[in-house]
Amino acid sequence: NLSERLERSFKLLKGQGKITEINVAETLKDVRRALLDADVNYKVAKQFTDTVKAKALGQNVLNAIQPGQLMVKIVHDELATLMGGDTAQVNLSGNPTVILMSGLQGSGKTTMSGKLAKKLKSEKSRRPLLVAGDVYRPAAIEQLKVLGQQIDVPVYTEEGNKNPVEIAENAIRYAKTNHYDLVIVDTAGRLAVDEQMMQEIAAIKKAVKPNETLFVVDSMTGQDAVNTAREFNERLDFDGVVLTKLDGDTRGGAALSIRTVVDKPIKFVGTGEKLDALDYFHPARMADRILGMGDIVSLVEKAQQQFDEKQARELQRKIAKNQFNFNDFLAQIEQIKKMGNLKDLASMIPGVGKAIKDVDIDDNAFKGIESIIKSMTAAERANPDIINASRRQRIAKGSGNSLQDVNRLLKQFEETRKLMRQANAIKSNPMKMMNAM
Ligand code: GDP
Ligand code: MG
Repeated sequence: NLSERLERSFKLLKGQGKITEINVAETLKDVRRALLDADVNYKVAKQFTDTVKAKALGQNVLNAIQPGQLMVKIVHDELATLMGGDTAQVNLSGNPTVILMSGLQGSGKTTMSGKLAKKLKSEKSRRPLLVAGDVYRPAAIEQLKVLGQQIDVPVYTEEGNKNPVEIAENAIRYAKTNHYDLVIVDTAGRLAVDEQMMQEIAAIKKAVKPNETLFVVDSMTGQDAVNTAREFNERLDFDGVVLTKLDGDTRGGAALSIRTVVDKPIKFVGTGEKLDALDYFHPARMADRILGMGDIVSLVEKAQQQFDEKQARELQRKIAKNQFNFNDFLAQIEQIKKMGNLKDLASMIPGVGKAIKDVDIDDNAFKGIESIIKSMTAAERANPDIINASRRQRIAKGSGNSLQDVNRLLKQFEETRKLMRQANAIKSNPMKMMNAM
């Protein structure tokens, strides 16, 4: 990981005698690369390393007793500062307090509405009212109702009314009459930014004048998250960002980029599908995460050096088409074993790295994983999407692993596949990254 990488390069430098400004610049190039790998926007990464360089020279890193450690500290603190320094508070003024949720479809608005209601109810003794403003899909209203039931919070809906502005206004009136002191307005999203959605959410904001407008974004979407954040901010001038799906091995780079590009604080993070999987955003913790993340891009590169050309091309094609399957996964594990030095490599593999972090790493480290994959039928390996509950049971029994182990592997596989696809898209088309600005 980045932190170890820095330590290592500074150790090397020390062995070579005097550390020079050129050496620092070279190390910062490493840092910049690692940030890009973590999905940090290109310009943001450049600006960041410039600042760190100035600070490193200012703090006389070159003459420090442990320059590597000091350097890591400067990088860490600067990351935290860039992401807002302190934990940002949510504005709870107003009676009722009105919170408006915005964001693309699937970003996690509805789930986050439920999570916020639950948190503010228990932590601040609020009486929340949830408002179903996603009027286009009946399933969306139903979803919010189910969440409301789980946390014992009423959901305001208007059957047959397709005007979310009216619904939101009526809901606030209803809240006042019935002494609810917190109104959370869930809204409809689209799969991509479109004009109608923007007009609608802007109209709701204008009508209800929320105390807090939150922009919800899926942290798994990497660079796209930055573009979406910018477009929503231009139209809505939102007050804060909610980063969802930070569970698993999601890279935290989006947090840094969004913060820098739209200059709005990240206020909450979602860390799971359950309703208590909600945290305030802690910049220092996110800095840890970015520094310690699995470096999938360099893993792919290292693996490719070992592959023959043809195999590598085939893998690239599969990743791009999302056809990367368990046969490839198994082949990759074989490759990794061939490369040796597992300890070094393990930290680079999201999911796998974490799972075997505390284990004595040798060639047996992958045994459990291999046994699970080998208990899959050829069809299951080639097409992991068909592995349903009963198949999972069978695989667990057949391989002598628990169902939990099987589920964990499938989840990690899915995440790895997604990360590889993202890494591949950036690698094969660097302009995409530039266009993100
Ligand atoms: P919306 O379309 O913006 O309202 O998104 P939803 O709230 O319906 O969420 C879309 C999907 O993402 C659902 O399957 C949620 O369970 C899931 N989801 C939401 N937040 C998180 C999170 O923090 N972590 C994970 N793993 N899943 C989440
Ligand atoms: Mg929704």
